[in-house]
Amino acid sequence: KRFEDLGLSKDLLEGIYFMNFKKPSMIQERALPLLLSNPPRNMIGQSQSGTGKTAALVLTMLTRIDMSVSNVEALCLAPTRELAKQIQRVVQTMGQFTNVKAQFAIPNMAKCSQRIDAHIVVGTPGTVLDLIQRNQLAVEHLKLFMLDEVDNMLELQGLGEQCLRVKRNIPSTTQIALFSATCSDEAFKYMYRFAPNANRIIL
Ligand code: AMP
Repeated sequence: KRFEDLGLSKDLLEGIYFMNFKKPSMIQERALPLLLSNPPRNMIGQSQSGTGKTAALVLTMLTRIDMSVSNVEALCLAPTRELAKQIQRVVQTMGQFTNVKAQFAIPNMAKCSQRIDAHIVVGTPGTVLDLIQRNQLAVEHLKLFMLDEVDNMLELQGLGEQCLRVKRNIPSTTQIALFSATCSDEAFKYMYRFAPNANRIIL
């Protein structure tokens, strides 16, 4: 398979060429057709870091959003700020030939009372939940909700519960995609509870 066969926009292909990716990695080849299918389907996936998982989730977010309107339509939660920042950087790089506005959810943002004006928001569960509760992050237009490194989320006190609380705020029609690096029973039990009707991809 080639990137050109995955239904990605011309602007996103430019971003991929800029990054010098020649062809989709295994997880990209398997996850992108599922994640980009219509009607949207939920997905739970197992893929270790280093397999190209970040680009798979970033390309999905960049494809699902409508950049002609100013709504938050994709939200991605990660267990640490470092990982969230890394995802945010890949959004900026792959989306540089589009008009995407992406926002990293900064904790201090909660101190000023401005609403987030972006298509994509990436952050840690606690900060994102805080922004939603303060009405600074509107999630009623959310089309896609992703969790990265679910297994690591569950190792950090309270993050799994915070993700579930974020989920209670989003529309029931929002597409959900979850990635875990390992296949642990705990992670899969949690992911199935989070997205009961999800399709599963295991590398
Ligand atoms: P990740 O698993 O998302 O942490 O990605 C691991 C590394 O692989 C990163 O440096 C990516 O830039 C790179 N990468 C991701 N997808 C591809 C691809 N299709 N071709 C070549 N490199 C890639």
